[in-house]
Amino acid sequence: MEVEIATIGGYEAVGRQMTAVRAGDDVVIFDMGLNLSKVLIHDNVETERMHSLDLIDMGAIPDDRVMSDLEGDVKAIVPTHGHLDHIGAISKLAHRYDAPIVATPFTIELVKQQIKGEEKFGVQNDLQKMEAGETMQIGERTELEFVNVTHSIIDAINPVLHTPEGAVVYGLDKRMDHTPVLGDPIDMKRFREIGREGEGVLCYIEDCTNAGRKGRTPSESVARRHLRDVMESIEHYDGGIVATTFSSHIARVKSLVEFAEDIGRQPVLLGRSMEKYSGTAERLDFVDFPDDLGMYGHRKSVDRTFKRIMNEGKENFLPIVTGHQGEPRAMLTRMGRGETPYELDDGDKVLFSARVIPEPTNEGQRYQSEKLLGMQGARIYDDIHVSGHLREEGHYEMLQALQPQHVIPAHQSLKGFAPYVDLAENQGYKVGRDLHVTRNGNMIQLTE
Ligand SMILES: [Zn+2]
Repeated sequence: MEVEIATIGGYEAVGRQMTAVRAGDDVVIFDMGLNLSKVLIHDNVETERMHSLDLIDMGAIPDDRVMSDLEGDVKAIVPTHGHLDHIGAISKLAHRYDAPIVATPFTIELVKQQIKGEEKFGVQNDLQKMEAGETMQIGERTELEFVNVTHSIIDAINPVLHTPEGAVVYGLDKRMDHTPVLGDPIDMKRFREIGREGEGVLCYIEDCTNAGRKGRTPSESVARRHLRDVMESIEHYDGGIVATTFSSHIARVKSLVEFAEDIGRQPVLLGRSMEKYSGTAERLDFVDFPDDLGMYGHRKSVDRTFKRIMNEGKENFLPIVTGHQGEPRAMLTRMGRGETPYELDDGDKVLFSARVIPEPTNEGQRYQSEKLLGMQGARIYDDIHVSGHLREEGHYEMLQALQPQHVIPAHQSLKGFAPYVDLAENQGYKVGRDLHVTRNGNMIQLTE
């Protein structure tokens, strides 16, 4: 059977991930993501109303025109998890394919919300839920399997396409977490089985994000301990404490909520995306928040809550807000600019349970936000965080587990591929032979 990989997006920079695998006449698409930084760099761009081709020209969504060179029918569109760089282009591209969108329940719910917000295209694709550990027939001789992985968002999987030539493992976005705060540990047992059963692994497509960092990415339980240490150290502070993190990072939000109560403060979630992700996770029973946990997204209800906090005493609350990257319209940035009823005083604490995404726009905005908060006297606690991506030893362990015939580095720029290429070559792979360093819009034929 012919097996071919189309590397459509995310092979020149992080963002707008999209890869298609053809096995015989059947094609499966993995991810359809958005590169948000290409959107935000323009003022007042509203992607909801934009046409796909304009967004492709901006570099914001994958240029899927290469799909017309791929013979066969698309049988499924499979986003691996709910981060925007993996699902953000579905509302702009999925309607071009007569295929269902297949994903885990939390991811499907986020896809559904995204499609609802789309104003240009009517996306009618079927939405099919599939849990980690389940399989689905794709063609007569091909099957799709979801393997549970751990990442900075819940319900993440690595999809595997089983073909008569071996398995194609799409390995984007995971860390090896054996003690996650929410959800199950990564299913390394299943990866090892896939590496040894039948024809083994034909191809492994890997996220190279932290390949240049030594050692292993710590578990979420380490970030949780770090957070507990910080919060206990300020337990007796009798002024304002404010925290921010990735809204989609439900495990982290859960830790913040729990520790707020431990130090005698009432947690409250503020900001549109805080309300969206935590509300969704709670509704789908992925997390058990206290019954009286307030979540407010709309400007008016947020400001009303801030007023209440000021009236009842800042020392009784922990607002958990958006703005960990210094996004100009996010809640923490507005607090820094003094645009909310919440008044910061000398010595008040601001906790960033996040790391700055190393990109000039984020770095600049975050710098500005911290300066503004600092000018009001706030003390900053930074980097209370662990990454969601594998480091060097995680990558090594994955290669050991899967023993793939071919490897394709992804989810990075050429510069970002380099440390992974080094590691893979040290494991016996060779660029140009079985280690395929590629760009957006290429085809790699693996078997004939
Ligand atoms: Zn991700």
